[in-house]
Amino acid sequence: MEGLLRPASPVAHPSGRDLFVSRQAVLDWLVAYATLIEQNKDVLTELDAAIGDADHGYTLNRGWQAVLSRLGASEHKDIGGLLKLAGMTLVSTVGGASGPLYGTLFICMGTSAGCKLELTLADWAAVLEAGTNGVVARGRASLGDKTMVDTLAAATQALNASTAAGAPLPAALRHSAEAARQGMLNTIPLPARRARASYLSQRGIGHQDPGATSSYLLLKAAADTWA
Ligand code: ADP
Ligand code: MG
Repeated sequence: MEGLLRPASPVAHPSGRDLFVSRQAVLDWLVAYATLIEQNKDVLTELDAAIGDADHGYTLNRGWQAVLSRLGASEHKDIGGLLKLAGMTLVSTVGGASGPLYGTLFICMGTSAGCKLELTLADWAAVLEAGTNGVVARGRASLGDKTMVDTLAAATQALNASTAAGAPLPAALRHSAEAARQGMLNTIPLPARRARASYLSQRGIGHQDPGATSSYLLLKAAADTWA
């Protein structure tokens, strides 16, 4: 009862609405994601074996190990610089379809983040949206084509909805990770329409897309690290 009568507080909201993601938190997220890829490289490769050419986990892990080694010399970089460094490293170290696509994701995210040293929820939603749009522009995949776009678009939509609703950052991050997980699971019954997996489109039905899975891990790492 007492709480209902109390006037609205002008200070930072205790639920985390005014929290932000610092530059250090972005660095921690990149390291956490590299670790998740290392831990899941066999699973990701097995998923790719079912519908592609069995390389996704191994090539992505090679790329993220290279990112980790280059992040050591990045102490003067802002958030945009960190993300672009990751993207350019992925372009030059991961082959196939996912190297250029993940490279584009991070380079476009970095361009959106620019010289910021912290991100609000609205900033993070804009950064992920810019990256997702970059992947779509580069790979020409639509929602439902059984690709990483199914995960990234779901997470972006959830973040935008949370931003519009004025949700606290931790809840918004968990919501976007859950939406990403659902986007990933939605790829299971779909036939593949893009790149290598499309050669085996009927075989793809019933299998979770490897790129959608590695993208889910990206949003999961963000929620686990920042929420
Ligand atoms: P490759 O198919 O060249 O072997 P990977 O195995 O590393 O590359 O990555 C495969 C993943 O890349 C797929 O599971 C899918 O999510 C993603 N992918 C492939 N083509 C596209 C595309 N045109 N747009 C978006 N994502 C794509
Ligand atoms: Mg492959």
